[in-house]
Parts: sequence; C-alpha cells; structure tokens
Amino acid sequence: MQHQAKKRYGQNFLRDKNLLKKIVNESHIKDKNVIEVGPGQGALTSFLADQAKHVTCFEIDQSLKPILDPIEKAFNNLDIIYADFMEQDLKAYGEELHVVANVPYYITTPIIFKLIETKEIKTASLMIQKEVCDRLIANPGTKAYNNLSVVMSYFAKVYKMMDVKRHMFVPKPNVDSAVIRIEKREKPLLNEKEEKIFLDIVKTAFKQKRKTLVNNWFEAYQIPKNDLQTFLNEHQLDVNIRAEKVTLNDFLAIAKVWPYDI
Ligand code: SAM
Repeated sequence: MQHQAKKRYGQNFLRDKNLLKKIVNESHIKDKNVIEVGPGQGALTSFLADQAKHVTCFEIDQSLKPILDPIEKAFNNLDIIYADFMEQDLKAYGEELHVVANVPYYITTPIIFKLIETKEIKTASLMIQKEVCDRLIANPGTKAYNNLSVVMSYFAKVYKMMDVKRHMFVPKPNVDSAVIRIEKREKPLLNEKEEKIFLDIVKTAFKQKRKTLVNNWFEAYQIPKNDLQTFLNEHQLDVNIRAEKVTLNDFLAIAKVWPYDI
C-alpha cells in the first residue's frame, strides 16, 4: 500500500527493525499501558503491542487507516484512534501511562509540555530533534542550558537513550535525531506556592540570556537592583551571575525563600 508522506504532519517514517526493537526494549513497557503518538505506518506499533499490556495510538492522518487496520486487527491489546493527540484527555486511558513515540517535530515542545502536565504519564521515550534533546539534558554552564533544561530537570529525570542519524528516516529530514527518556519524579520537589514562584523566576531569569539575574529580574519584577544583589549575596550567589550558570538546586533554594510578589 503506497502512502505519500505529508510534511504538514511531520511524517518521517522509520524502517530499521533493529533500531525499533532497541527503542522498545529500552522503554521498559512490559505489561504496561502504553500511548503512542503518531503510529504512522505502524513501524513501532507492533513491537509495542508485543510487549505492552495495552497500546492506545493517536494518529491525526486518517489516510493511514488502510495501512494500520491490519496491524490493529492482528493484536487484541491495540486500539488506534484517528484524532489529534494534543486534544486528548489522557486520564481516560489509565492511571499509569507510558508514552513511546517518534514524535512529529512540528509539535515537539507542546507534546513534551502535555506529557509533563499529565499526571497519569509516568515515563516517555521520545524520538526528537537532536538539538532539542541537547537542550533538555543540558548542564549548567553549557551553551545549550536554558529555561527548558531547568524546568525539565525539575519535573523529571532525563537522559539520552541514543542518537539517530537522519538517513534512518523516509523521507530524510533536515536534522539528526535522538531518543530521550523522561522519567517523571514521583514527588514534587516544591510545594504548590513555591513551584509557581520557581517556574516564573526561571522563565524570567533566562529572558535575555546575556543579562545577569539581577538585570533580568529587575526588568521582570521592578525590584530595586540593590535589594536583589543583597538577596543573592545572602544566598551565596554571585551578584553578577547569569542564569546559564545557576543550577536546579540554586533555583529551588531561591524559590523557597523568594520574598517578593511575582
Ligand atoms: N511512528 C511512525 C514511525 O516511527 O515511522 C511515524 C512517525 S512520524 C515522525 C509522526 C506521526 O505523527 C505521523 O504519522 C503523523 O501523521 C502523526 N501526527 C502528526 N501530528 C499529530 C497529532 N497532532 N496527533 C496525532 N498524530 C499526529
């Protein structure tokens, strides 16, 4: 069955069975409830259904149905739903969910935020652009470290499972990829009020990467610079520090004692 790949849906299909098996084996989904975003032509789907307790797939492109129907029929633990993943309320699919997906790159960041916000999702193994993976796993003091790196490490433990070169996809995309593993933290590191402050001060700290924390926070909150300098000093941070050097633990400590309105 021939299918013309649709660019608007980020369709870059995988073929290599060894790679697909490796992704599934390293996703630890045995007897788990799995969600797949965008099964495409079903390359990952049957490997997932072989191991998982149940697999629910969301595919936006109805025209893939003739290719996916025989796969769906071959397994009694597989459901394929033709709908936009971003519009789904995932609560209906179980209390403990594990996502495995070669994600459509035009919505990588919204998908990651949806996974983070959905409490039922415990882990995710995602094929994403290598550049985004580098940002998500970046350490302080490196060029790739940004708002997303800090927020991600707050909500989850993240690591790179493997690099995947662009020639592994049909059609070949313009960038290389990587599979990232996201394991959500069971307990939040902060209480609700502290978390709200944390998310806001991290966002504003990285607003202009080349500016110091003091300058970024002065602009965001109109707190006098002298007060901010004293505050940083009291918490053993250099008054001229930039966000790119501030660790997750530093941001957590600051959020716990932040004395200003935001
Ligand atoms: N899993 C297949 C593979 O590895 O070969 C296909 C991966 S392809 C990168 C992304 C898939 O996501 C495509 O099949 C595309 O149609 C689908 N897709 C794109 N946007 C979507 C959305 N909002 N909701 C559900 N599926 C979507």
